[in-house]
Amino acid sequence: MAFKSIDQVDMAGKKVFLRVDFNVPLDKTGNITDDTRIQAVLPTLNYALSKKAKIILASHLGRPKGKPEAEFSLAPVARRLGDLLKKEVPLAPDCIGPEVERMVEALNPGDVLLLENLRFHKEEEKNDPGFAQNLARLAEVYVNDAFAVSHRAHASVEGITKFFKEKAAGYLMRDELHYLGKVMEDPARPLVAVIGGAKVSGKLEVLKNLAPRVDRLIIGGGMAFTFLKAVGMAVGKSLVEEDLINTARGIIEGANQKGVKVFLPVDCVVAEKMDPSAQTKVVPVDKIPGTEMGLDIGPETLLRFGEALRDARTILWNGPMGVFEMEPFSNGTMGLVEHIVKSGALSVVGGGDTDTAVHRSGKADKISYISTAGGAFLELLEGKKLPGVEALKT
Ligand code: AMP
Repeated sequence: MAFKSIDQVDMAGKKVFLRVDFNVPLDKTGNITDDTRIQAVLPTLNYALSKKAKIILASHLGRPKGKPEAEFSLAPVARRLGDLLKKEVPLAPDCIGPEVERMVEALNPGDVLLLENLRFHKEEEKNDPGFAQNLARLAEVYVNDAFAVSHRAHASVEGITKFFKEKAAGYLMRDELHYLGKVMEDPARPLVAVIGGAKVSGKLEVLKNLAPRVDRLIIGGGMAFTFLKAVGMAVGKSLVEEDLINTARGIIEGANQKGVKVFLPVDCVVAEKMDPSAQTKVVPVDKIPGTEMGLDIGPETLLRFGEALRDARTILWNGPMGVFEMEPFSNGTMGLVEHIVKSGALSVVGGGDTDTAVHRSGKADKISYISTAGGAFLELLEGKKLPGVEALKT
């Protein structure tokens, strides 16, 4: 890899600026409802602690409009992190400025300080060089473990790196790039991509970039109906993006020309409305009634998708097969998880909804890697270079 990982830099007793993604969900009273993002950084934090670094943590939380707003304070994160690390994690009143610098100077080796929300300054999202320099002056070593924001050229992700000689990726960042690199650059074949989710539009660039690279492309979820319409099916009231029908046809034809087999649903679960109590039935995709919409793949489709996954050696999956949040439309997505696990392939899964679905299936521990990122994961699959990753390269 063209960048160092955290264990390749000397940080003993040094001030380390550690960019993390602590953008956790909070309820109305400010309690953290899911601390996965904090837990995900613990290996990096524990390593830095074991080296007796002086750790300065920086993150954003929510969408404050470039000024301090109490509801977006990182105070709940400081408390939770303190509980997890079993040590005090003070919260600085800001992320830059003389008061923060004083707190940093007072750190002892092995201390942890959390800076207040980076996005309390509009300069963060503008990648302002002066702001980046003010952040950088706090530390001697820069570590980025915030893969989920590395597709953004923000000051704490991109601009700041120009002021450091020593910079490295944390373990979470390293693992994300390692697994995605395996899929995109040097996959064991057959490589099968499963793409689902609501719309083609959100995944268009992913589909275009992946189609020629994979051996098989499985398309499910709401987006499948635009593809089905492109091959001449009437799809009733199912989700269709009319303006993308030609594009969908082009993706199928392009894949076929390269010898890539595209798998579309052959049957689906339909209902008159997207409602957990709606009457459902299974119909072949060429017999969807005009008044109904397809909300999950059907059992025959699941069998065929399973067959396409059986001898796969690498599987990449993004996007649910149906409206898995509602029980009557969850079988396709849950069944897909089983087939992926059964294949024994290296499996890399990403995207917020897919992540949720895999955890709901109870089989998350059988998936090789579940990405913590949404946008950054998709941008890598689109073949884009991520500013935060490029900036780490030496
Ligand atoms: P995405 O964020 O594009 O991956 O889309 C995820 C969403 O797609 C989930 O909330 C699913 O409920 C939704 N979805 C999956 N299949 C369908 C479908 N057949 N019709 C409508 N929405 C769907």
